[in-house]
Amino acid sequence: MPSLNYYGTNDALSSKEAYHYKKYMKRANIQTMGRFHFDPVLFTPVNLDCLNCKLVHSTTCCEGGQPYSMKPDNLNRLHLHAQEIIQTHLDPKRQKEAQETGYIESVSETFSPTIKDCEGDCFFLGKQESQSFCSIHRYALENKLSPWLLKPFSCSLFPLDIIEDGEKLLITAITPETAPFSRWGKDYEHFFCVNYQKRKEAELSPELFSLKNFKPAWTWSQELLEQSFGKECVEWILQMEKGY
Ligand code: SF4
Repeated sequence: MPSLNYYGTNDALSSKEAYHYKKYMKRANIQTMGRFHFDPVLFTPVNLDCLNCKLVHSTTCCEGGQPYSMKPDNLNRLHLHAQEIIQTHLDPKRQKEAQETGYIESVSETFSPTIKDCEGDCFFLGKQESQSFCSIHRYALENKLSPWLLKPFSCSLFPLDIIEDGEKLLITAITPETAPFSRWGKDYEHFFCVNYQKRKEAELSPELFSLKNFKPAWTWSQELLEQSFGKECVEWILQMEKGY
């Protein structure tokens, strides 16, 4: 039986996650095109209003841990820019730490390289007054580079998930039904960005995670999908969307 992996990482689904994945695949209304399994939950409304995240959530998705492991090409691109990112956007304490012990460590059973955590958060999480930000993302935008080129693939993928099932790839999104096997786990329960109903029922200023700015989950990762799998992949999703 082919192993099940989180695409773009060296991390496999646990046996429990694999069990839930298989159950889900039996009941979900998946559309298959070539090697892709497209899940209709790609059209779930999402609003990645990350700049306002700290105003309404006690912690952001970049706090309290570290990103998923990175493939060599992803990691090599980060290495090319990391020193400049650290010098430009991170505080002296992190600059010293990077000099002394680096910013990568090997984790999990496969000893896969990933960005290490620092004081409980991702090493590249920057803080400024009441805001926190991804220093890699900020640096990429300042230098007119696509953030997905430098950030860990998984970070760029949110709110989508891609499961590698042998030759096949399930392209799905975070929902209560995918949570038991998704790399994002229970994030759906906590964050307004991926939970339209929770946002709708919340008493928040209308401009925070504005309901009118929710749009289909897949569109937040359109560039990543196109660059990773070609225009054809995006065209298939657009074709499928017409039926929903
Ligand atoms: S690399 Fe950036 S997006 Fe990913 S966890 Fe770290 S701060 Fe967040």
